[in-house]
Amino acid sequence: MSTTLDQPMPNPTGPSPPLVRLVVKPDQGRSLVAAGLIKPGQVVLVDTPPVLYPSSLASLPLFCSHCFRVLPSQPFPCPSCHVARFCSPKCLSLSHPHLLCHALPSLISGNDTWPDDLLFLLSAYSLPSSSLLQLLSLHSNSRYPDEQMPFIHSQLSSFIPPNLVPMHFSPETTSSLLSKKKTNCFLLINPMDQKFGRGPHGLGGARALGFYLWASMINHDCLPNVCLFDNIDDPTRENNTDLIFRALHEIKEGSEICRSYVVLSREYRERHSLLIEYYGFKCKCDRCKIESKWFENEGEYAEGEEEMVEREGNFPHWDLLMRYTCKCGGTLAPLPPYPDGSVSDIIECNWCGVIRKYKPPDDDPY
Ligand SMILES: [Zn+2]
Ligand SMILES: [Zn+2]
Ligand SMILES: [Zn+2]
Ligand SMILES: [Zn+2]
Repeated sequence: MSTTLDQPMPNPTGPSPPLVRLVVKPDQGRSLVAAGLIKPGQVVLVDTPPVLYPSSLASLPLFCSHCFRVLPSQPFPCPSCHVARFCSPKCLSLSHPHLLCHALPSLISGNDTWPDDLLFLLSAYSLPSSSLLQLLSLHSNSRYPDEQMPFIHSQLSSFIPPNLVPMHFSPETTSSLLSKKKTNCFLLINPMDQKFGRGPHGLGGARALGFYLWASMINHDCLPNVCLFDNIDDPTRENNTDLIFRALHEIKEGSEICRSYVVLSREYRERHSLLIEYYGFKCKCDRCKIESKWFENEGEYAEGEEEMVEREGNFPHWDLLMRYTCKCGGTLAPLPPYPDGSVSDIIECNWCGVIRKYKPPDDDPY
């Protein structure tokens, strides 16, 4: 049984009317389900972040403090802090979080390496009260370690002058914000930087982090039905920090919207340890149920080709994975349907942007 959540949430910025609906299931918490039939390639959700913040002080001289694109050779410095820089007069006018702006000159003059938690807290506390409360209403899988709280809250207090102390400012709010951060933050990246950086997790390659109220409610499945287009440098995207989710195949009304939090082609044990370490849960999806058995029976197989043939033979999702996995490690999704509603036979990679024609097999089950 599920109920619609009575929670003040801003509408996602697109599409209109929304194709997703928020539901709460007693066993799983919040999730998004299809509000109607969704076609392959259809944009399911566009989500705009209430708060974005730089991943480190080192990213400030390289990337615009508003949109986090690479700075031009003649950037526009922030007239208040003179530390943040912007790529254009438009980003300059949209500026950056005011408490972060106030703290940056002291932060960069200190010898300490400030944790990104502090950059996050200064940015989150700069939000209007209603947006801050929305962040606090999000679900969280983890708790911030209690013993570190007094230290980080007092550090934070030292950067906020008495006349700028925000509403709800307290050690409890700080602790709650930090616990939401781990579960709900997205890394803002150019996926190809990420590919050649320190891997898809950790801050390697991330220029900024953002909270996304809707996107953070999309649960994980190792056989997802949507994939994320989030290339921050894509010149065709005006709102380049929005997250765009596109359907991989047809999604029936009421079906849960799921994305993969890890690279689709990773094998079971890698996915399992990444999901435990970074997201704090054990995946029990259909694919994991099958693949986990391979490792229970590990001793029965010899290493090598024979083993792969055996595994493929017992794996009904193989075609699906082959279809959606790009050589670069990204995921291939159909282009959005044509204006007349017909489905595109062109697929596009969410990382490298490669576009090619897709011919479904005759017995296409999706
Ligand atoms: Zn910019
Ligand atoms: Zn500033
Ligand atoms: Zn799984
Ligand atoms: Zn690719």
